[in-house]
Amino acid sequence: MENEVKQCPCGSGKHYQDCCQPFHAGQVPPDALTLMRSRYAAYALNLPDYIIKTTHPASPQYSDDYSRWAKKLSSFSQHCKFEKLEVLDFKEQRDVATVTFVAHLSQNGQDATFTEKSYFDKVNGKWMYRIGQLAEGRVPNLITTGQIKILPLAYYGNPILRKKGDPILEISEEIETLVDDMIETMDGCDGIGLAAPQVHQSIQLFIIREPTENESGEIVWGDVKVFINPVLSAFSEDKWISSEGCLSIPSIHLDVERSKEVTVDYTNLDGERVQERCSGMKARVIMHEYDHLQGVLFIDHLSAAEKEKIDPFLKRLHHRIHDGTEL
Ligand SMILES: [Zn+2]
Ligand SMILES: [Zn+2]
Repeated sequence: MENEVKQCPCGSGKHYQDCCQPFHAGQVPPDALTLMRSRYAAYALNLPDYIIKTTHPASPQYSDDYSRWAKKLSSFSQHCKFEKLEVLDFKEQRDVATVTFVAHLSQNGQDATFTEKSYFDKVNGKWMYRIGQLAEGRVPNLITTGQIKILPLAYYGNPILRKKGDPILEISEEIETLVDDMIETMDGCDGIGLAAPQVHQSIQLFIIREPTENESGEIVWGDVKVFINPVLSAFSEDKWISSEGCLSIPSIHLDVERSKEVTVDYTNLDGERVQERCSGMKARVIMHEYDHLQGVLFIDHLSAAEKEKIDPFLKRLHHRIHDGTEL
């Protein structure tokens, strides 16, 4: 008779039946750490449906093609040996949580260990995996120090994205804290610009990472710049087309035509009014973020024909973000 105790692959030391199995069977994990462990166990046990069910609909990993996605997850599970899960850090605050962990894996006999700082959002009372920062090997410095600063994002369909932001009358401590949190949110989501309405604040503020070109002509994303009460003027007649994406409309990139140059007047964090003439990628990012403060989204710049083409995608996105994601 088989009486070997089946230990849970999440590494808790507990029996699978008393650990992650109830979650895989439909029980809602009480916190993001439990969700994270149960997801690791689901990868180890090749349960792609569980991974899909617990992925935030706005995650860059989300796909409407469930069967292809499940196959991809399943193939990852089959090709990896899940040796150990090591949780380095767990922080939960409001409806956002981070878990930093080391997944000790091997793939075809080769070490494939990685460290991930995962971000979780609470949606309708359930924790969901949204996005992760990854590093190869065991990299403890991904740990969240201090409080979590990453803010919940407003996604396509949220009315705040269609409102004009109010002017900022005073650069208060609150604004300074918001800017700090927005920087962490932008970087945590791999963004290059973020406007206040995207973090549920209807005010005239956006931040960007300043793009510069290196010697080989590639764009390098540099320091953060803060724009308060910005005004754009003198749009150049000269236009150019380039691909854009938006953290509020995840998993889509589209070509958008914009002026090559623009002048921006804005107040910086020190309260000084500044004027700059910008061109190229910097002008593009500024125009994209400035649009957010007027309630305009980059998809509004598409032609009628292009809009019609992406309409089914936008409808699906709206549905999965706002009407629930039960499979
Ligand atoms: Zn477990
Ligand atoms: Zn955007």
